[in-house]
Amino acid sequence: MIKINLRKKISQRVVNGHPWIFNNEVDKIEGEVKGGEIAEVFTYDKKFVGKGYINPKSQILVRLLTREKNMDINEQFFYERIAQCWEYRKKLGYTENCRLVFGEADDLPQLIVDKFNNHFVIQTLALGMDIWKPAIVKAINQIFNPLGIYERNDVPVRELEGLPQQKGFLSDPFDTKIIIRENGLQFRVDIENGQKTGYFLDQQDNRRAIQHIVKDADVLGAFTYTGTFEIHAAHYGARSVLGLDISENAVQQATKNAELNGVQDCCRFETANAFDVLKQWAKDGRQYDVVMLDPPAFTKSRETLQKAITGYKEINLRGMKLVRPGGFLVTSSCTNLVNAELFQQIIEMAAKDARRKLRQVVFQTQSADHPVIWGMENTQYLKFLIVQVL
Ligand code: SAH
Repeated sequence: MIKINLRKKISQRVVNGHPWIFNNEVDKIEGEVKGGEIAEVFTYDKKFVGKGYINPKSQILVRLLTREKNMDINEQFFYERIAQCWEYRKKLGYTENCRLVFGEADDLPQLIVDKFNNHFVIQTLALGMDIWKPAIVKAINQIFNPLGIYERNDVPVRELEGLPQQKGFLSDPFDTKIIIRENGLQFRVDIENGQKTGYFLDQQDNRRAIQHIVKDADVLGAFTYTGTFEIHAAHYGARSVLGLDISENAVQQATKNAELNGVQDCCRFETANAFDVLKQWAKDGRQYDVVMLDPPAFTKSRETLQKAITGYKEINLRGMKLVRPGGFLVTSSCTNLVNAELFQQIIEMAAKDARRKLRQVVFQTQSADHPVIWGMENTQYLKFLIVQVL
């Protein structure tokens, strides 16, 4: 087995349990390095740190899978880890749909498994995890006896690992347009062509948080995708709901979802660029009781962080101006590059420009099936804020 010795001065991060070991933290490597293989990691004075998979093509040389010396990395290991992930989700109350495996937060670095009731979508985003795909599929088959498993590895980050982008069946083929249930509603999910793994499970707890504020309200939702927040609003008793998305296809899906739930009379969707339309409607003097915003990550890298900050500020400023005094702004940000504190500052700047005072209702993160590990910054990425706009 490959043996790695870390430098004398290593970051607290590794000592405290973070699973990533960067190239520049390594003093010496013994054995022939083959990408994807398991390596044992030791401190400079030969104390065992953990075992993980290695990829010399990546800046993150090793991602640790275990801190136990006697734990073998084999099929059984993946079976047990995935079974543990399911036990944890069940304990939190998830029964049908959940992110079953959330990578580093579940000690399975770079593995994502979304469970849509009896269908599963997986992403293996690093070489060392990709190698174990058959073991992962076998474990899912053993634990769940699923109707189907699909691979959504059509993500650019795989190329940094020397892996191709690809998607397809990991089970017998099945109809990839499925219907899931959430909070008593139904949503169509396009596993094959939908965004990410087809559906944003990370907002499933947050969608319930709008329950009371939307009652009898005129609601505007922007960045609607398949209409989940908007259909929840209609279901919770909104008077009227309008959802906007720049993608025509998303608007079609959202419209179908409204019909599926019998709320099509009060819940409409339009194709529009939210930045343009919100600005124009504020000028026109339109007002809503509740405005909901859930934009995409405006950046994926630190270099363009400023662009993201500007984007979030602009859209929230425009949104806020459309909120009737005493109404509510429901706003999210899904990039971990903008942390909760910075997000709050951005919203504060927007409020200052709009000359509005804010009263915080809830400020939370992603749903609990995407666990946040303290000390592992990347695991906390979603900000979900509801404020009353005075
Ligand atoms: N709220 C959704 C997820 C939204 S994802 C849910 O919970 O399922 C972000 C969406 O914003 C995508 O559907 C994308 O098409 C849309 N989008 C991106 N830029 C936009 C713009 N300028 N105007 C309107 N929609 C936009």
